[in-house]
Amino acid sequence: MNIPVRAASHQYEVVIGNGMLKAALESYKALFDQADKIIVLTDQHVWAAQEGYFKSACPYHFHVFVMPAGEACKSFENFNAAQTFLLEQKCTRKSLVIAFGGGAVGDLAGFVAATYMRGIPFIQVPTTILAHDSAVGGKTAINHALGKNMIGAFYQPEAVLYDTQFLATLPIREVRSGMTEVIKHAMISNPQWLQEIMQKNVTTLDEPTLADYLAKGVQVKAKIVEEDETEQSVRKFLNLGHTYGHAMEAAAGYGGLAHGEAVMIGLVYCLLLSERYGQITREFTIDFYKFARHNGYPFEAVHDYTFEELTDYLLKDKKADYGELQFVLLEEIGKPYVKKIELSECKEIDAELRQLLTEVHE
Ligand code: NAD
Ligand code: ZN
Repeated sequence: MNIPVRAASHQYEVVIGNGMLKAALESYKALFDQADKIIVLTDQHVWAAQEGYFKSACPYHFHVFVMPAGEACKSFENFNAAQTFLLEQKCTRKSLVIAFGGGAVGDLAGFVAATYMRGIPFIQVPTTILAHDSAVGGKTAINHALGKNMIGAFYQPEAVLYDTQFLATLPIREVRSGMTEVIKHAMISNPQWLQEIMQKNVTTLDEPTLADYLAKGVQVKAKIVEEDETEQSVRKFLNLGHTYGHAMEAAAGYGGLAHGEAVMIGLVYCLLLSERYGQITREFTIDFYKFARHNGYPFEAVHDYTFEELTDYLLKDKKADYGELQFVLLEEIGKPYVKKIELSECKEIDAELRQLLTEVHE
């Protein structure tokens, strides 16, 4: 399946399917033929799990640079190491980068491509569920000691080639984490789809259902990016669950909670907040929370931090200005909007969340 992304700066396609990598790479022959060097940037887990399949599918000669996995991939040190590799390989402005991995590799490799000799083309070959989100839309970044994703660029890939066969070796925790972004895409776009997802165990979906959900998620993301590439308006909706989620993720120390695990807590938080201003009912919030629990999302983490501990991280969020926080709320499922919320109200909702977690069981 091919999904076009018509971003203002650049148009490209997301090709999704099972076992289609070879054919997809071949269909971009002209792009590869133009490149004087092809550099594959990947991480050690992805390369250990998928080197064989990647090599069997790639018809072009390439040089590979294997990087540390996880957030370590997005460090200044690794950014420097990757640029050094490109220079040592004598890459030029005509070289092509392939980002082969999850969101961490994609963000790093995209930023390397955006900055090497002021910008060279790159292709995303995502290998995680989360990356159906991160590989589309052109946000690239590395981390700074003072904040995650603080140094980066908007830089669109030439193509996103998403072979779901790679997902077979993904650890279950990464499956669960990535499914949060699928659920988020359903929540901001389509109540029927969300209802369907809530009947399922999202960690054990069969391949056709998973591929269908990933394609739907990409479509939601692509449509938003087409309307607002640089997050002036509707692109903010993609931050549903991320304000409180990022604070939890940061408090836990990156890696302590997987991104999607933290965002799932943030989604429940946003439902509680949405109840105050729109059509979301407490009954729905409880159903959603039970669904998330049944799927193994770890909510206990909330009890490890006080609201005061989370506050610093909440205020550090890029969306915070002068003590007022921007939240994405839902008027109802499928109808997101942005609202400024004062810290005192955030604290009330935090207390409601803690109460919900102690009162609702099964
Ligand atoms: P990740 O890239 O760190 O991958 C998670 C883990 O799974 C890593 O250890 C990785 O080595 C391993 N892995 C990846 N694919 C595998 C496979 N097929 N088989 C076995 N192991 C595999 O994490 P992620 O969840 O994909 O991405 C998280 C990152 O994405 C964060 O840094 C976040 O900031 C970023 N992100 C970016 C955007 C964006 O728009 N650019 C959006 C959301 C998230
Ligand atoms: Zn996210």
